[in-house]
Amino acid sequence: GEPLAVSARVAPLGSRLVLLLVEDLTEARRIEAVRRDFVANVSHELKTPVGALSLLSEAVLDAADDPEAVQRFAGRMQIEATRLTNLVQELIDLSRVQNDDPLEDAEPVRVDELVAEAIDRCRHAAGTKQITIASGGTADLHVWGNRGQLAAALGNLVENAVNYSPARTRVGIAARRVAQPGGDMIEIAVTDQGIGISDKDKERIFERFYRVDPARSRATGGTGLGLAIVKHVVASHGGEVTVWSAEGQGSTFTLRLPEAGAARDRAQQHPDLD
Ligand code: ADP
Repeated sequence: GEPLAVSARVAPLGSRLVLLLVEDLTEARRIEAVRRDFVANVSHELKTPVGALSLLSEAVLDAADDPEAVQRFAGRMQIEATRLTNLVQELIDLSRVQNDDPLEDAEPVRVDELVAEAIDRCRHAAGTKQITIASGGTADLHVWGNRGQLAAALGNLVENAVNYSPARTRVGIAARRVAQPGGDMIEIAVTDQGIGISDKDKERIFERFYRVDPARSRATGGTGLGLAIVKHVVASHGGEVTVWSAEGQGSTFTLRLPEAGAARDRAQQHPDLD
């Protein structure tokens, strides 16, 4: 009926233009909705620790003559303050990975350096829980990308492995090169013997602010942003992140990233894709 007649009149180039415009509007509306959700989520996530800090500081004032209570409240204030700090840091990370073109200053990045940095980042948490972190296979491997962002991605995975594991367990980091027709990839797998993730939750954990158990995540200073950052970083690097997990047994998160030499060769073959 009517719409066909319209497209017939603007065809053939025009119809494609109209279609593009319509798609563009839908996309703009979708982005706007995501942005609104995000701001609402951030406000909520900021309000919780700030509210707790304000209540706790009142409690400290009221309990001035009870040193034990003051100690207890101050300890909880410290937890909330840590949470606030983590949240702000991850918001900064997230805005950075979303705005910048990460490949603008891409370079070959040594996998063993990324791994060392990631382990360093959770040394304290792992030490407290007597969790051993072991790595292997990283020698002589290089991925192609933005060093800071790749470090943030791997750091988040190792941090989660430690946070969602019981004391005296092991976290393993294993890297290897995977041959691929389009150019070799590097796989970095982080395995833990932790609480695991149900199939239902597996689909959602990469969403911003999604947490399987908000109380548990909060206790470790979690924000629900870590995996969203990981997903964003690997996507912008032309890689992917996958998860295998069995509840009560543990999880393996695997990063797959372009190998440095392969990425350079690809860029040389297709200079316009640089
Ligand atoms: P958080 O800051 O809460 O750790 P993430 O985005 O990093 O946020 O992770 C989202 C959720 O996925 C976590 O709250 C946790 O429930 C689950 N999760 C992530 N990594 C693991 C893991 N290694 N083992 C079990 N659960 C995990």
